[in-house]
Amino acid sequence: AEMFGQLTSGLEAAWNKLKGEEVLTKENIVEPMRDIRRALLEADVSLPVVRRFVQAVSDQAVGTGLIRGVRPDQQLVKIVNDELVKLMGGEVSELVFAKSKPTVILLAGLQGVGKTTVSAKLALYLKKQGKSCMLIAGDIYRPAAIDQLVILGEQVGVPVYAAGTAIKPAEIARQGLQEARKKNVDVVIMDTAGRLQIDKAMMDELKEVKRVLNPTEVLLVVDAMTGQEAAALVTTFNVEIGITGAILTKLDGDSRGGAALSVKEVSGKPIKLVGRGERMEDLEPFYPDRMAGRILG
Ligand code: GDP
Repeated sequence: AEMFGQLTSGLEAAWNKLKGEEVLTKENIVEPMRDIRRALLEADVSLPVVRRFVQAVSDQAVGTGLIRGVRPDQQLVKIVNDELVKLMGGEVSELVFAKSKPTVILLAGLQGVGKTTVSAKLALYLKKQGKSCMLIAGDIYRPAAIDQLVILGEQVGVPVYAAGTAIKPAEIARQGLQEARKKNVDVVIMDTAGRLQIDKAMMDELKEVKRVLNPTEVLLVVDAMTGQEAAALVTTFNVEIGITGAILTKLDGDSRGGAALSVKEVSGKPIKLVGRGERMEDLEPFYPDRMAGRILG
């Protein structure tokens, strides 16, 4: 199924109810607003976000008045579009680079969300921008993850620092950073271990790694399929370890869009990048306006 497909058609129902109307009124937007609310909830957008969104849209819809040459249904589309862009953070949130080399990017996230894949994708993405990169393999609980990162690193032509599994992640981080300084690379990206669920051991380990690396970016990798859970996840990681943003993966799947729409509003942290496929090239900046455009079809 096409991502957002259901959301798009749910919203269409709202505009359709305004066909033939001359102007937006308090009365004639009641039904369309109900459709918008329902469409967002079905798309897995978190409830408080839906409430605020619907309020903001209806306030504007009633206050807009008659605009010559613009039909009421088109007016509502425009208002919803602008609010969607705002909801997703407005502008693109660029990656931040350190003033002096190397910039350190720490990746965190639950198991299976696509962290290891994203590590290599990000290295390729930055390499294409002319930056030299190094990867650090920190997922010591899954030996296959280290092998996977080494293979992906070869594939994208970026060196990988791996020290096996019989060593603490914070120590790998320390050694890896030292190696990166020796190599004089621009950016170091560290992949870390994830668990199936948030637990204290994982958070403590991440805190230790963070202390050692003093990273410029701490990015939480989130699977778009987790829907509205994604927003709570970002909030928890932010409170526990302090993050600078999120990377949303698997946007090529049939996720309903809730994560893309809720993360910024609920956690205050922007989605910086999105993954849309299994290929190494499938990573791009998160553009709120383009995303809104896709949602509105
Ligand atoms: P980790 O446990 O977080 O390190 O997750 P992995 O990087 O091993 O990824 C788990 C699975 O998700 C792998 O099969 C990846 O190929 C797949 N995957 C990762 N990112 C994407 C994406 O953006 N789209 C799709 N379709 N699959 C992805």
